[in-house]
Formats: sequence, structure tokens, C-alpha cells
Amino acid sequence: MTDMPDVSGRDRSIRCRELVRIFTADDVEVQALQGLDLDVASGELVALVGASGSGKSTLLGILSALDRPTAGSATVAGVDLTTMNRRTRLQYHRRVVGFVWQQTERNLVPYLTIADNVLLAMQLGRTPDRSARLGELVDLLELGDVLDRRPGDVSGGQRQRAAVAVGLANDPAVLLADEPTGELDEATSTRLLETLRTVNRETGTTTLIVTHDAAVSDHVGRTVRIRDGRTATETLRSTAGTTGDAREYALVDRAGRLQLPREYVDRLGLQDRVRLALRSDHVGVYRGDHDQPTTNDRTEHDDA
Ligand code: ADP
Ligand code: MG
Repeated sequence: MTDMPDVSGRDRSIRCRELVRIFTADDVEVQALQGLDLDVASGELVALVGASGSGKSTLLGILSALDRPTAGSATVAGVDLTTMNRRTRLQYHRRVVGFVWQQTERNLVPYLTIADNVLLAMQLGRTPDRSARLGELVDLLELGDVLDRRPGDVSGGQRQRAAVAVGLANDPAVLLADEPTGELDEATSTRLLETLRTVNRETGTTTLIVTHDAAVSDHVGRTVRIRDGRTATETLRSTAGTTGDAREYALVDRAGRLQLPREYVDRLGLQDRVRLALRSDHVGVYRGDHDQPTTNDRTEHDDA
């Protein structure tokens, strides 16, 4: 790894291949990520949704270069996170990636005003023209009224918008947000998500929002579902912000494996072994305990 990429350049993508992260604590191994694949294109806004313990924060730890994968590869904005040295990591934190942490106290220094929090982030990132940049962020995130207040003296929504301003302070290629709406009520969550969408559209910052809240899907173009440390299914919306027009996709890995959504498995009582039927344009999946094929299954091409 030589020089850092030009952040204003085109590559703002995220690419993970077969990411594995195993934690060992008290002789117990936890496989937090078990071969996760993820692609986010430059400028895309994606939600990664999964239950608690599915590996979301572990993934963001790796993407923010605070943690390293046990195996597999991860590249953000052209930077290979598995072979990074200390100097590159410092540059990476300053210029390439912005973060909104799950723990609010980690986002903002409590005894500094909102303005000073953003200015401090820019100072650490060596961003020039800080007052001009502060002005841009204040407009973008509608922070004009709270600039001189401390984080403890503003509303939860304002605090999270300030956290986003800190995350964006150094104009990063990629913004990573871990449960940014976790402590907000529904109306405030909706507003924050719309703000993130506006920011994404106006700045082109690639944005990955990680959450257990499936409602976040309504605000983004693409939702990737993570289960047991692997990406499983995807929902694409042609028009983010409306509830209609969503399509479900399951991801097929290179070995041809796919994970069925939990609801499908439960609804049909699928377990252990399923029977497959190849049709001209789809694959049927049936409970393995049905010994007699139904008449519909007789031929591969009879779908009527
Ligand atoms: P999520 O953010 O989706 O709730 P996490 O990534 O925090 O999930 O955790 C995934 C799994 O890895 C969980 O089983 C969790 O207990 C485990 N885990 C996370 N961090 C550590 C760690 N530092 N040491 C041991 N286990 C961990
Ligand atoms: Mg988490």
C-alpha cells in the first residue's frame, strides 16, 4: 500500500469477500462473521439489517479499520483493509471513513459545543477551510440553532444530526452508521433517515446504515439482510421513501448456496433436507418429507 487514494476521486465503494471474524474469549470461539460478501457501489446508500448478534457491529469495526478480519478481504475506497500499516490506518481514519457510532457518547465530546465538536473533528482530520466547511455542514444538517449548545442540552434528533456532521466533517468517501436511530422515537428516526438520504444524494458519500430496525428499509434503495454473520437476502426498492414496489432477492454465492428467508422456512416447515425441482425458469423448493411428488412436479418444463 503506497499513497492513499484521492478521496474526491471516483472510488468510494465497499467490497467484502468471504469475511470471517472469530472472537476467542475464555476458550470459547464466537464466529461473528462467517464468510460475509458485500458490495456497495460508489455513492450508494444501503441499509444492512439483522437481528442483534448477527455481526453488524463486527463488520463496521472491520470497515472502520479498528479491527481486522480473521480471514477474507475488505476494500473501502480502494484501500485494502487487511494489509494496512499504521500510517495508512491513521490517514484512513482522517480522510476516508466517517463514523456515527452506536454509543452516542462516542460521537460527541460532552463538554464541547456542537460547533466545537465538528471543528475538533476537522482539526484532527487536517481539513483546511474549517469555518467554511462548518457552514456547509450546518446547512446540510440544519444545526444552526444548536451550534453553541452542548450535546447534553439538545434533543436526541439534534444530537444524532450533530453526530452525522462530525462523521462527515472531513468529507469522507464512506460514512458508516451503527444503529443511528437506536435511541430515537419513530418520528425522529424517520427525520434522521431522510436527512441521511439527503446528505447521500447531495454529497455522494457512500453510506452504510447498520440496524436491527427493518423499517429503515423504507428509506433506502437497497437493504441487505445479515443473518449469522452472512449476508442472506436483499430488498431493492425502485423508489426509496415509499413502501411499495419492493422486490426480495436472495444472494447466491459462488458455490451456489443461498439462504432462504426465515419466514419461508417457518411457513412451509422446511428443515434438514428439502427437495429441489428444476423448472424452465425457476427452481422449486419442497419439504423433504413429502415422498410422493405432486402432479405439478412431473416434468421439468410443465409449469402451467
Ligand atoms: P450486532 O452488532 O449485529 O448485534 P455484533 O457484531 O456486536 O452483533 O456481535 C456478533 C457476535 O459476536 C455476537 O455473538 C457477539 O457476542 C460476538 N462478539 C462481538 N464482539 C466480540 C468480542 N470482542 N469478543 C467476543 N465476542 C464478540
Ligand atoms: Mg451492534
